[in-house]
Amino acid sequence: MTRTPAPAPAQTPPKVGIVSLGCPKALVDSERILTRLRAEGYSISSTYDGADVVLVNTCGFLDSARDESLEAIGEAIAENGKVIVTGCLGAEAGLIREKYPQVLAVTGPHQYEQVVEAVHGVAPPLSHPFFDLVPEQGIRLTPRHYAYLKISEGCNHRCSFCIIPSMRGDLASRPVADVLREAEKLAKAGVKEILVISQDTSAYGLDLRHAECKWRGRPVKARMTELCEALGELGVWVRLHYVYPYPHVDEVIPLMAERKILPYLDIPFQHASPTVLKAMRRPANQEKVLDRIRNWRTITPDLTLRSTFIVGFPGETEADFQLLLDWLTEAQIDRLGAFKYENVTGAAANELPGHVPEKVKEERWHRLMAHQQAISNARMAAKIGSTIEVLIDEVDDEGAFGRSWADAPEIDGCVYLNGETDVAEGDVVRVRVAHADNYDVWGEVVRD
Ligand code: SF4
Repeated sequence: MTRTPAPAPAQTPPKVGIVSLGCPKALVDSERILTRLRAEGYSISSTYDGADVVLVNTCGFLDSARDESLEAIGEAIAENGKVIVTGCLGAEAGLIREKYPQVLAVTGPHQYEQVVEAVHGVAPPLSHPFFDLVPEQGIRLTPRHYAYLKISEGCNHRCSFCIIPSMRGDLASRPVADVLREAEKLAKAGVKEILVISQDTSAYGLDLRHAECKWRGRPVKARMTELCEALGELGVWVRLHYVYPYPHVDEVIPLMAERKILPYLDIPFQHASPTVLKAMRRPANQEKVLDRIRNWRTITPDLTLRSTFIVGFPGETEADFQLLLDWLTEAQIDRLGAFKYENVTGAAANELPGHVPEKVKEERWHRLMAHQQAISNARMAAKIGSTIEVLIDEVDDEGAFGRSWADAPEIDGCVYLNGETDVAEGDVVRVRVAHADNYDVWGEVVRD
């Protein structure tokens, strides 16, 4: 009698938990790390107690974000005990080790190899990982229908309030063929919206001297305009974030008019007063920028501009602040985020003279928000009666909501379709706008 050998007992894959803090760029880092670990046979745990090791991907941009990161590390240690720290705050290993000596490893931003090695050390991978467990487009932490596409790391600017260049280094762009291949895989996997991110999207490829790569049988330059043209061929929404106001940004506006990419630009202007911008070490000719914005809107009238501003920067006078309000009246920014200046450990701005008292910062912040509210109200009211394209984000028994071209996920508004249940997540539908407040709109699907 022959006997069939008993199958070897199935190995249980080690489990990794992750706490991902910070901006979409950090989220993309987390996705890359998880993609790599999944490829090696690890499984992902959604709870602390189910994990063999917990990764905490930290943010260290503002002091408040550093505090939140340190708190998250403390929680992971208390709940699980086996903790590896990575991300922006990882650049300050001494600080982390001093507060939490039990942390198993600390790695800096985008040190994927080191993070993976540290995980191997704590929870070794299975000897025969099943590589085909990983979808071709990688592991994503975003819903299936949209994804962030990181095109570069680091930044060549030295804004005086920012420590990103010291944490993440100078600009390091990904080769254009890599970026486009990733975007193609995303589109093939059903992603309907690609959000292009970096520290400085308009500088893309400068460090590569705009090196060409072959894509779809033709050469494409590593340069923002050429990248946008190529992404525009994929048949999905393409949204640009973190664009620095270089003159060549003008080149992508016609692509928006032709609907190759979304008519949406996220440009953190930060201020309008030449004196403050100079102290920030940013381009200081906002009059010229106003002319450019007018020109952009002539070419693409429905262009949505998102921006962020800092109030109470050291040395900001009442006249500087008033100049900012006047500039906003002219610029008609659609979506605005405002922050009260705060010191960031290691930033040059900490040493500037003329720090503004907290009470004044607070008062200016409220004035700025009230000023912008009037602008937003008018711009949103102008949408009533128009028909817009909407990407559906969620549907339940009571209706659906999604976003238009003017709305980036998480940071902008929504389009609400009360009572609409005949759509699915990821659908793109046409909606007639019936009502708007200064942030969101409500409407009905147009079926013809
Ligand atoms: S451009 Fe952005 S990332 Fe670069 S230094 Fe300035 S604020 Fe920091």
